Amino acid sequence: MLPPHPECGKDDPIETTRTSMMNSFPDRLLEGYHDFRSESLSHERERYQRLADDGQTPEVMVIACCDSRAAPEMIFHSLPGEIFVMRNVANLAPPYKPDGAFHATSAALEFAVQSLKVKHIVVLGHGRCGGIRAALDPKSEPLSPGDFIGKWMELLGPAAEAIAKNEWMTDSERQTALEHISVRHSIANLRTFPGISKLEGKDQLSLHGAWFDIALGELWTMDPETGDFKRAPFDPN
Ligand SMILES: [Zn+2]
Repeated sequence: MLPPHPECGKDDPIETTRTSMMNSFPDRLLEGYHDFRSESLSHERERYQRLADDGQTPEVMVIACCDSRAAPEMIFHSLPGEIFVMRNVANLAPPYKPDGAFHATSAALEFAVQSLKVKHIVVLGHGRCGGIRAALDPKSEPLSPGDFIGKWMELLGPAAEAIAKNEWMTDSERQTALEHISVRHSIANLRTFPGISKLEGKDQLSLHGAWFDIALGELWTMDPETGDFKRAPFDPN
């Protein structure tokens, strides 16, 4: 129920319009849905029907950041059913910790590895990551003044502290360094899951790191031996 207008006692038309706009489903999403139905779905209808009938069998899981600029489905140009995506702040994989608490990322990992039996897990970092920035400078205005991000970014605690203290590096060097370190750190955490390390030991599961440069649209992949990141091959022809 809307509050009455303070002067005339009737509904405030501006407030009424504002409220109805807030309550309506976002136009941008309805427009996108229209394009999906009229364009993408018409090309992929058989695939959707097959996925509905047979279920999903993606071979790749991607752990990516929530950042709207680094969507794995866009970067890898994937089709429905091809990659199983878990997104969280700063694309972090936590260590194995079956303590009865709520663990969204671990639940997704469990499903991907034990049920879907994915063959690859990719941890995908990205440039200009706000979560990483917050981890580097926890005393600054928090990314969101809430109850959860600070705790979540503690997953990177010692590494973030060490990089933040390095006065020889510029701000952008620290940022990129921690973005890369966080990918390596998440891969190390993945290996603390007994099911993952066991399958990796039997060559039935591979762990990979990657990093996406938003400004250039470039993908960098992690060398599994050295941990260094190298630009992924791209041939425009
Ligand atoms: Zn991010």
